[in-house]
Amino acid sequence: MKILVLNAGSSSIKYSLFAMNDHRVLLNGILERIGETMALHRYRLLDAEPVTAEMPLTNHQQALQTLFSTLANSGAVRNGELACIGHRVVHGGELFKQPALITAEVITQIAGVIPLAPLHNPANLQGMKESMRLMGNVPQVAVFDTAFHQSLPDYAYRYPLPADLYTDHGVRRYGFHGTSHGYVAKRAAEFLGKPLPELNLITLHLGNGASATAIEAGRSVDTSMGMTPLEGLMMGTRCGDIDPALHFYLSRSLGLSLETIETLLNKDSGCKGVCGENDMRTIHEMADAGDQTAKLALLMYAYRLKKYIGAYFAVLGRVDALVFTGGIGENDSWLRRQCCEGLSGLGIIIDPTQNQAPAHPCAAIHTHTSTVKILVINTQEELEIAIQAEACLNATR
Ligand code: ADP
Repeated sequence: MKILVLNAGSSSIKYSLFAMNDHRVLLNGILERIGETMALHRYRLLDAEPVTAEMPLTNHQQALQTLFSTLANSGAVRNGELACIGHRVVHGGELFKQPALITAEVITQIAGVIPLAPLHNPANLQGMKESMRLMGNVPQVAVFDTAFHQSLPDYAYRYPLPADLYTDHGVRRYGFHGTSHGYVAKRAAEFLGKPLPELNLITLHLGNGASATAIEAGRSVDTSMGMTPLEGLMMGTRCGDIDPALHFYLSRSLGLSLETIETLLNKDSGCKGVCGENDMRTIHEMADAGDQTAKLALLMYAYRLKKYIGAYFAVLGRVDALVFTGGIGENDSWLRRQCCEGLSGLGIIIDPTQNQAPAHPCAAIHTHTSTVKILVINTQEELEIAIQAEACLNATR
Protein backbone atom coordinates (compact mmCIF):
# COMPACT_ATOMS: atom_id res chain seq x y z
CA MET A 1 0.00 0.00 0.00
CA LYS A 2 1.28 3.51 -0.85
CA ILE A 3 0.18 6.64 0.99
CA LEU A 4 0.96 10.22 0.02
CA VAL A 5 1.23 12.81 2.80
CA LEU A 6 0.60 16.47 1.96
CA ASN A 7 1.44 19.50 4.10
CA ALA A 8 0.02 22.53 2.33
CA GLY A 9 1.15 25.98 3.45
CA SER A 10 0.20 29.33 1.96
CA SER A 11 3.04 29.39 -0.61
CA SER A 12 4.50 25.89 -0.36
CA ILE A 13 3.42 22.24 -0.38
CA LYS A 14 5.61 19.59 1.24
CA TYR A 15 4.97 15.96 0.39
CA SER A 16 6.18 12.43 1.09
CA LEU A 17 5.15 9.14 -0.45
CA PHE A 18 5.40 6.08 1.83
CA ALA A 19 5.41 2.34 1.19
CA MET A 20 3.32 1.26 4.16
CA ASN A 21 4.66 -2.31 4.36
CA ASP A 22 8.08 -1.12 5.56
CA HIS A 23 7.51 2.65 6.03
CA ARG A 24 10.12 3.54 3.41
CA VAL A 25 9.97 7.03 1.88
CA LEU A 26 9.66 6.38 -1.87
CA LEU A 27 9.58 10.03 -2.89
CA ASN A 28 9.60 13.32 -1.06
CA GLY A 29 9.70 16.90 -2.13
CA ILE A 30 8.57 20.46 -1.78
CA LEU A 31 6.87 22.92 -4.12
CA GLU A 32 7.89 26.42 -3.02
CA ARG A 33 7.15 30.02 -3.98
CA ILE A 34 3.69 29.13 -5.31
CA GLY A 35 2.10 32.34 -6.61
CA GLU A 36 5.44 34.09 -7.25
CA THR A 37 6.86 34.67 -10.74
CA MET A 38 8.89 31.47 -10.61
CA ALA A 39 8.11 28.54 -8.33
CA LEU A 40 10.58 25.86 -7.32
CA HIS A 41 9.99 22.11 -7.26
CA ARG A 42 12.59 20.10 -5.39
CA TYR A 43 12.14 16.36 -4.97
CA ARG A 44 13.99 13.15 -4.50
CA LEU A 45 13.10 9.59 -5.47
CA LEU A 46 14.34 6.75 -3.30
CA ASP A 47 18.00 6.00 -4.13
CA ALA A 48 18.14 8.75 -6.80
CA GLU A 49 19.80 12.13 -7.00
CA PRO A 50 17.71 15.14 -5.91
CA VAL A 51 15.94 17.05 -8.71
CA THR A 52 15.28 20.81 -8.79
CA ALA A 53 13.02 22.40 -11.38
CA GLU A 54 11.85 26.00 -11.81
CA MET A 55 8.41 26.70 -13.27
CA PRO A 56 5.58 29.18 -12.93
CA LEU A 57 2.92 27.87 -10.51
CA THR A 58 0.14 30.36 -10.00
CA ASN A 59 -1.84 28.48 -7.37
CA HIS A 60 -2.22 25.28 -5.34
CA GLN A 61 -4.14 23.60 -8.16
CA GLN A 62 -1.22 23.97 -10.57
CA ALA A 63 1.25 22.94 -7.88
CA LEU A 64 -0.70 19.77 -7.09
CA GLN A 65 -1.09 18.98 -10.80
CA THR A 66 2.72 19.14 -11.04
CA LEU A 67 3.05 16.91 -7.99
CA PHE A 68 0.60 14.28 -9.27
CA SER A 69 2.29 14.28 -12.70
CA THR A 70 5.64 13.75 -10.97
CA LEU A 71 4.19 10.81 -9.03
CA ALA A 72 2.98 9.19 -12.25
CA ASN A 73 5.87 10.10 -14.57
CA SER A 74 8.59 9.04 -12.16
CA GLY A 75 6.99 5.63 -11.78
CA ALA A 76 6.68 6.16 -8.01
CA VAL A 77 2.95 5.47 -8.26
CA ARG A 78 1.44 3.27 -10.94
CA ASN A 79 -2.23 3.09 -11.82
CA GLY A 80 -4.41 2.46 -8.80
CA GLU A 81 -1.45 2.07 -6.43
CA LEU A 82 -2.13 5.15 -4.34
CA ALA A 83 -4.33 3.90 -1.50
CA CYS A 84 -4.80 7.19 0.33
CA ILE A 85 -3.71 10.81 0.71
CA GLY A 86 -3.14 12.07 4.26
CA HIS A 87 -3.39 15.82 4.83
CA ARG A 88 -1.76 17.63 7.70
CA VAL A 89 -4.25 20.03 9.27
CA VAL A 90 -3.02 22.38 11.97
CA HIS A 91 -6.27 23.02 13.86
CA GLY A 92 -9.17 20.66 14.41
CA GLY A 93 -10.77 22.60 17.25
CA GLU A 94 -12.78 20.41 19.63
CA LEU A 95 -14.53 18.63 16.77
CA PHE A 96 -11.68 16.39 15.73
CA LYS A 97 -10.25 14.07 18.35
CA GLN A 98 -9.19 11.57 15.67
CA PRO A 99 -8.19 11.69 11.99
CA ALA A 100 -11.20 12.06 9.69
CA LEU A 101 -12.01 10.75 6.23
CA ILE A 102 -12.44 13.91 4.15
CA THR A 103 -15.98 14.58 2.96
CA ALA A 104 -17.77 17.80 2.02
CA GLU A 105 -19.03 17.96 5.61
CA VAL A 106 -15.54 17.56 7.08
CA ILE A 107 -14.27 20.36 4.81
CA THR A 108 -17.06 22.62 6.07
CA GLN A 109 -16.20 21.72 9.68
CA ILE A 110 -12.50 22.48 9.16
CA ALA A 111 -13.46 25.78 7.54
CA GLY A 112 -15.48 26.53 10.69
CA VAL A 113 -12.26 26.37 12.72
CA ILE A 114 -10.48 29.00 10.57
CA PRO A 115 -11.03 31.79 13.14
CA LEU A 116 -8.94 29.74 15.61
CA ALA A 117 -6.09 29.24 13.11
CA PRO A 118 -6.31 32.03 10.52
CA LEU A 119 -2.60 31.72 9.67
CA HIS A 120 -2.66 27.96 8.96
CA ASN A 121 -6.04 26.33 8.29
CA PRO A 122 -6.92 28.26 5.08
CA ALA A 123 -3.82 26.93 3.29
CA ASN A 124 -4.38 23.39 4.61
CA LEU A 125 -7.96 23.59 3.32
CA GLN A 126 -6.88 24.88 -0.07
CA GLY A 127 -4.55 21.89 -0.45
CA MET A 128 -7.33 19.52 0.59
CA LYS A 129 -9.94 20.97 -1.76
CA GLU A 130 -7.64 20.95 -4.81
CA SER A 131 -6.40 17.47 -4.02
CA MET A 132 -10.01 16.23 -3.76
CA ARG A 133 -10.79 17.90 -7.08
CA LEU A 134 -7.79 16.36 -8.86
CA MET A 135 -7.72 12.98 -7.11
CA GLY A 136 -11.28 12.53 -5.91
CA ASN A 137 -11.12 8.79 -6.61
CA VAL A 138 -8.47 8.33 -3.89
CA PRO A 139 -9.66 8.35 -0.24
CA GLN A 140 -8.23 11.31 1.65
CA VAL A 141 -7.80 11.71 5.38
CA ALA A 142 -7.28 14.82 7.50
CA VAL A 143 -4.83 14.39 10.40
CA PHE A 144 -4.89 17.15 13.00
CA ASP A 145 -1.99 18.64 15.00
CA THR A 146 -4.42 19.34 17.82
CA ALA A 147 -6.08 15.88 18.07
CA PHE A 148 -3.50 14.26 20.39
CA HIS A 149 -4.11 16.99 22.98
CA GLN A 150 -7.89 16.58 23.07
CA SER A 151 -7.34 14.41 26.17
CA LEU A 152 -6.32 17.46 28.25
CA PRO A 153 -8.54 17.88 31.34
CA ASP A 154 -10.63 21.06 31.47
CA TYR A 155 -8.58 22.58 34.30
CA ALA A 156 -5.54 22.38 31.99
CA TYR A 157 -7.15 23.58 28.78
CA ARG A 158 -9.35 26.39 30.10
CA TYR A 159 -7.99 29.95 30.38
CA PRO A 160 -8.97 31.92 33.48
CA LEU A 161 -11.23 34.18 31.37
CA PRO A 162 -14.99 34.86 31.29
CA ALA A 163 -16.69 31.51 30.66
CA ASP A 164 -18.63 32.65 27.58
CA LEU A 165 -15.39 33.22 25.69
CA TYR A 166 -14.98 29.44 25.89
CA THR A 167 -18.59 28.35 25.48
CA ASP A 168 -19.48 30.78 22.70
CA HIS A 169 -16.15 31.34 20.97
CA GLY A 170 -13.95 28.30 21.62
CA VAL A 171 -11.30 30.31 23.48
CA ARG A 172 -9.23 27.60 25.23
CA ARG A 173 -5.87 25.89 24.97
CA TYR A 174 -5.66 23.32 22.14
CA GLY A 175 -1.95 22.51 21.77
CA PHE A 176 -0.11 21.60 18.56
CA HIS A 177 2.66 19.29 17.25
CA GLY A 178 0.36 16.44 18.34
CA THR A 179 1.52 14.04 15.62
CA SER A 180 5.14 14.50 16.72
CA HIS A 181 4.47 14.16 20.48
CA GLY A 182 2.29 11.10 19.80
CA TYR A 183 4.83 9.52 17.46
CA VAL A 184 7.85 9.88 19.77
CA ALA A 185 5.77 8.66 22.73
CA LYS A 186 5.07 5.42 20.81
CA ARG A 187 8.74 5.08 19.86
CA ALA A 188 9.78 5.71 23.48
CA ALA A 189 7.45 2.93 24.67
CA GLU A 190 8.96 0.53 22.11
CA PHE A 191 12.49 1.55 23.09
CA LEU A 192 11.77 1.10 26.81
CA GLY A 193 9.93 -2.17 26.17
CA LYS A 194 6.81 -1.05 28.06
CA PRO A 195 3.20 -0.51 26.97
CA LEU A 196 2.55 3.19 26.33
CA PRO A 197 -0.51 3.23 28.68
CA GLU A 198 1.90 2.44 31.54
CA LEU A 199 4.24 5.34 30.82
CA ASN A 200 4.48 8.93 32.01
CA LEU A 201 6.59 11.05 29.67
CA ILE A 202 7.67 14.62 29.12
CA THR A 203 8.16 15.07 25.38
CA LEU A 204 10.01 18.12 24.06
CA HIS A 205 9.52 18.90 20.37
CA LEU A 206 12.15 21.54 19.62
CA GLY A 207 12.19 22.64 15.97
CA ASN A 208 11.54 26.07 14.49
CA GLY A 209 8.36 25.91 16.52
CA ALA A 210 8.72 24.26 19.92
CA SER A 211 6.42 22.68 22.47
CA ALA A 212 6.54 20.51 25.57
CA THR A 213 3.91 17.91 26.48
CA ALA A 214 3.12 16.07 29.71
CA ILE A 215 1.94 12.55 28.87
CA GLU A 216 0.26 10.53 31.63
CA ALA A 217 -0.46 6.86 31.02
CA GLY A 218 0.14 7.47 27.31
CA ARG A 219 -2.29 10.41 27.01
CA SER A 220 -1.51 14.11 26.69
CA VAL A 221 -2.58 15.87 29.92
CA ASP A 222 -0.88 19.22 29.35
CA THR A 223 1.04 20.95 26.59
CA SER A 224 2.80 24.27 26.28
CA MET A 225 1.16 25.69 23.14
CA GLY A 226 -2.28 27.17 23.66
CA MET A 227 -5.14 28.43 21.54
CA THR A 228 -2.43 29.25 18.98
CA PRO A 229 1.16 28.02 18.56
CA LEU A 230 2.41 31.29 20.09
CA GLU A 231 2.08 30.25 23.74
CA GLY A 232 4.65 28.30 25.72
CA LEU A 233 8.35 27.85 25.02
CA MET A 234 10.61 30.46 23.50
CA MET A 235 11.00 29.53 19.81
CA GLY A 236 12.97 30.52 16.72
CA THR A 237 10.84 33.55 15.94
CA ARG A 238 7.89 33.24 18.38
CA CYS A 239 7.99 34.76 21.83
CA GLY A 240 6.23 31.98 23.78
CA ASP A 241 4.88 32.94 27.22
CA ILE A 242 4.82 36.69 27.84
CA ASP A 243 2.76 39.06 29.94
CA PRO A 244 -0.54 39.50 28.06
CA ALA A 245 -0.59 43.12 29.24
CA LEU A 246 2.38 43.75 26.98
CA HIS A 247 -0.09 44.05 24.10
CA PHE A 248 -1.71 47.10 25.72
CA TYR A 249 1.67 48.74 26.13
CA LEU A 250 2.71 47.97 22.55
CA SER A 251 -0.56 49.41 21.32
CA ARG A 252 -1.08 52.40 23.63
CA SER A 253 2.47 53.57 24.25
CA LEU A 254 4.15 52.57 20.98
CA GLY A 255 1.09 52.94 18.75
CA LEU A 256 1.54 49.54 17.10
CA SER A 257 -1.42 48.11 15.20
CA LEU A 258 -2.85 44.65 15.95
CA GLU A 259 -1.36 43.31 12.71
CA THR A 260 2.08 44.70 13.57
CA ILE A 261 1.92 43.18 17.06
CA GLU A 262 0.86 39.82 15.62
CA THR A 263 3.82 39.82 13.22
CA LEU A 264 6.21 41.05 15.90
CA LEU A 265 5.29 38.25 18.32
CA ASN A 266 5.14 35.49 15.69
CA LYS A 267 7.92 36.36 13.27
CA ASP A 268 10.34 38.80 14.92
CA SER A 269 10.57 37.55 18.50
CA GLY A 270 12.01 34.44 20.19
CA CYS A 271 15.68 33.83 19.36
CA LYS A 272 15.45 36.17 16.39
CA GLY A 273 14.20 38.99 18.58
CA VAL A 274 16.95 38.53 21.16
CA CYS A 275 19.96 37.99 18.87
CA GLY A 276 18.79 38.63 15.30
CA GLU A 277 18.98 34.97 14.23
CA ASN A 278 16.52 32.10 14.48
CA ASP A 279 18.58 29.15 13.25
CA MET A 280 20.05 27.41 16.28
CA ARG A 281 23.24 26.38 14.46
CA THR A 282 23.98 30.00 13.52
CA ILE A 283 23.21 31.12 17.08
CA HIS A 284 25.77 28.65 18.45
CA GLU A 285 28.37 29.87 15.94
CA MET A 286 27.71 33.46 17.00
CA ALA A 287 27.92 32.55 20.70
CA ASP A 288 31.16 30.60 20.13
CA ALA A 289 32.56 33.72 18.44
CA GLY A 290 31.74 35.75 21.56
CA ASP A 291 28.41 37.34 20.60
CA GLN A 292 26.68 38.25 23.89
CA THR A 293 23.18 38.49 22.38
CA ALA A 294 23.49 34.94 21.02
CA LYS A 295 24.70 33.71 24.42
CA LEU A 296 21.72 35.37 26.07
CA ALA A 297 19.29 33.83 23.54
CA LEU A 298 20.68 30.35 24.26
CA LEU A 299 20.47 30.83 28.03
CA MET A 300 16.92 32.15 27.80
CA TYR A 301 15.85 29.29 25.53
CA ALA A 302 17.29 26.66 27.89
CA TYR A 303 16.00 28.38 31.05
CA ARG A 304 12.43 28.63 29.77
CA LEU A 305 12.56 25.00 28.63
CA LYS A 306 13.84 23.89 32.03
CA LYS A 307 10.93 25.65 33.75
CA TYR A 308 8.49 23.58 31.69
CA ILE A 309 10.34 20.36 32.55
CA GLY A 310 9.93 21.26 36.23
CA ALA A 311 6.28 22.19 35.79
CA TYR A 312 5.43 18.97 33.97
CA PHE A 313 7.30 16.96 36.56
CA ALA A 314 4.92 18.45 39.11
CA VAL A 315 1.93 17.71 36.84
CA LEU A 316 2.90 14.05 36.42
CA GLY A 317 4.38 13.21 39.83
CA ARG A 318 6.30 10.30 38.33
CA VAL A 319 8.22 10.64 35.07
CA ASP A 320 9.53 7.55 33.28
CA ALA A 321 11.31 9.41 30.48
CA LEU A 322 12.16 12.81 29.14
CA VAL A 323 12.17 12.73 25.33
CA PHE A 324 14.00 15.23 23.10
CA THR A 325 12.96 15.52 19.46
CA GLY A 326 12.83 17.99 16.52
CA GLY A 327 15.83 19.53 14.75
CA ILE A 328 17.12 21.17 17.94
CA GLY A 329 16.08 18.44 20.38
CA GLU A 330 17.77 15.77 18.26
CA ASN A 331 20.97 17.65 17.45
CA ASP A 332 21.78 20.25 20.07
CA SER A 333 23.79 18.51 22.79
CA TRP A 334 24.58 21.82 24.54
CA LEU A 335 20.92 22.64 24.97
CA ARG A 336 20.01 19.15 26.23
CA ARG A 337 22.78 19.36 28.84
CA GLN A 338 21.93 22.92 29.83
CA CYS A 339 18.24 22.30 30.45
CA CYS A 340 18.89 19.08 32.42
CA GLU A 341 21.61 20.64 34.56
CA GLY A 342 20.85 20.74 38.28
CA LEU A 343 17.85 18.43 37.97
CA SER A 344 19.42 15.44 39.76
CA GLY A 345 17.00 16.14 42.63
CA LEU A 346 14.24 15.13 40.21
CA GLY A 347 16.20 12.04 39.17
CA ILE A 348 17.23 13.57 35.83
CA ILE A 349 20.94 12.97 35.22
CA ILE A 350 22.36 13.26 31.72
CA ASP A 351 25.43 11.27 30.64
CA PRO A 352 27.79 13.77 28.98
CA THR A 353 29.38 11.16 26.71
CA GLN A 354 26.11 9.59 25.54
CA ASN A 355 24.67 13.09 25.10
CA GLN A 356 27.43 14.12 22.70
CA ALA A 357 26.43 11.96 19.74
CA PRO A 358 23.30 9.90 20.35
CA ALA A 359 22.59 7.09 17.90
CA HIS A 360 19.93 7.63 15.24
CA PRO A 361 16.92 7.22 15.34
CA CYS A 362 16.57 6.50 19.06
CA ALA A 363 19.08 6.65 21.90
CA ALA A 364 19.30 6.82 25.69
CA ILE A 365 21.53 9.58 27.09
CA HIS A 366 21.03 9.21 30.88
CA THR A 367 23.44 7.79 33.44
CA HIS A 368 22.67 4.47 35.15
CA THR A 369 21.82 6.38 38.35
CA SER A 370 19.23 8.58 36.61
CA THR A 371 15.75 7.40 37.67
CA VAL A 372 14.26 9.28 34.71
CA LYS A 373 15.34 7.92 31.34
CA ILE A 374 16.47 10.62 28.91
CA LEU A 375 15.89 9.76 25.26
CA VAL A 376 16.67 11.41 21.94
CA ILE A 377 14.21 10.23 19.30
CA ASN A 378 14.01 11.20 15.63
CA THR A 379 10.50 12.47 14.96
CA GLN A 380 8.74 11.50 11.75
CA GLU A 381 5.60 13.58 11.53
CA GLU A 382 4.88 12.71 7.90
CA LEU A 383 5.18 8.99 8.60
CA GLU A 384 2.87 9.35 11.62
CA ILE A 385 0.32 11.12 9.40
CA ALA A 386 0.55 8.21 6.92
CA ILE A 387 0.15 5.66 9.75
CA GLN A 388 -2.88 7.51 11.15
CA ALA A 389 -4.40 7.91 7.67
CA GLU A 390 -4.00 4.16 7.07
CA ALA A 391 -5.64 3.36 10.42
CA CYS A 392 -8.52 5.74 9.66
CA LEU A 393 -8.99 4.16 6.24
CA ASN A 394 -9.05 0.65 7.71
CA ALA A 395 -11.49 1.72 10.42
CA THR A 396 -13.93 3.19 7.91
CA ARG A 397 -13.85 0.21 5.52
P1 ADP B 1 10.68 22.49 11.66
O1 ADP B 1 10.01 22.90 12.92
O2 ADP B 1 10.60 23.51 10.59
O3 ADP B 1 10.33 21.08 11.22
P2 ADP B 1 13.22 21.33 12.42
O4 ADP B 1 12.61 20.32 13.35
O5 ADP B 1 13.90 20.83 11.22
O6 ADP B 1 12.21 22.48 12.04
O7 ADP B 1 14.27 22.16 13.31
C1 ADP B 1 14.93 23.27 12.81
C2 ADP B 1 15.90 23.76 13.87
O8 ADP B 1 16.82 22.71 14.19
C3 ADP B 1 16.73 24.95 13.42
O9 ADP B 1 16.79 25.93 14.45
C4 ADP B 1 18.11 24.34 13.24
O10 ADP B 1 19.12 25.27 13.49
C5 ADP B 1 18.10 23.28 14.30
N1 ADP B 1 19.18 22.32 14.08
C6 ADP B 1 19.34 21.47 13.06
N2 ADP B 1 20.53 20.82 13.18
C7 ADP B 1 21.12 21.29 14.31
C8 ADP B 1 22.34 21.03 14.98
N3 ADP B 1 23.22 20.14 14.50
N4 ADP B 1 22.59 21.70 16.12
C9 ADP B 1 21.72 22.60 16.61
N5 ADP B 1 20.56 22.91 16.02
C10 ADP B 1 20.25 22.26 14.88
